[in-house]
Amino acid sequence: MQYTLKKSLGQHFLNDENMCVKIVAQLTTSPGMQLLEIGPGGGAITKYLLELNDIHYKAIEIDTEKVAYLQKTYPSIKGKILEQDILKAAAPFQGTFSVIGNFPYNISSGILFKILEWEPQVSEAIGMFQKEVALRVASGPGSKVYGILSVLMQAFFKVEYLFEVHEKCFTPPPKVKSAVLRFTNMNNPYEINDKKKFINLVKTAFNQRRKTLRNALKGLLPAPMLANPIMDKRAEQLSVSDFVTLYKEFEA
Ligand code: SAH
Repeated sequence: MQYTLKKSLGQHFLNDENMCVKIVAQLTTSPGMQLLEIGPGGGAITKYLLELNDIHYKAIEIDTEKVAYLQKTYPSIKGKILEQDILKAAAPFQGTFSVIGNFPYNISSGILFKILEWEPQVSEAIGMFQKEVALRVASGPGSKVYGILSVLMQAFFKVEYLFEVHEKCFTPPPKVKSAVLRFTNMNNPYEINDKKKFINLVKTAFNQRRKTLRNALKGLLPAPMLANPIMDKRAEQLSVSDFVTLYKEFEA
């Protein structure tokens, strides 16, 4: 059975078996664990995931054609594949689960925000990203690429830049470079209780990243907070824990 490759859905399928095995090997497995694959596509990594022992697997795939293909090619996937848009999906499991996928690059920010939304339930995520996005998410203060998603993801997860994946490992080869990240849930180490408020603060701070925080946060924070000398800095100079300090003061 053949299928078409849809550029609009970011379909760059892995064709390199060693690479598929290497990606699956990054997953921390435990008996009875729940695992969500985002965008299984033609099943390049799916076939290895389905072989894992004692795992409750589910997949979310938006493309009807690939859902039909997967069900035909891997009969054991029946009942485990949800034909849905990941960005609109509800958490597919109760309790904790891990996430894996060679993600569609056009919605990688949306997927990261989804992982953030599901964070109380996500123990680990292994994902393929466009290299620039991966570097950005894993970067720290002072770096030019440090931004909203670096702070937000690192506030909840340990972020590891695992390895790069050559273009020729994909069909068709993407025009951009690729890299795999691992997110390990740190169980809300900073005790952020109002995630929405934290996200809003970080987004607003970076919205005008060349301005001082005092200017960027003028409309959001009360005047006494704006007097703090830290407000002379720019968002990209603040560490994750600096942001948490601001958030706690804001929340109080
Ligand atoms: N995992 C496969 C395919 C990766 S390509 C492999 O490595 O070969 C990305 C996959 O994500 C495609 O199958 C595409 O159809 C799917 N996809 C794209 N947008 C999606 C969305 N909004 N929700 C769910 N799946 C999506």
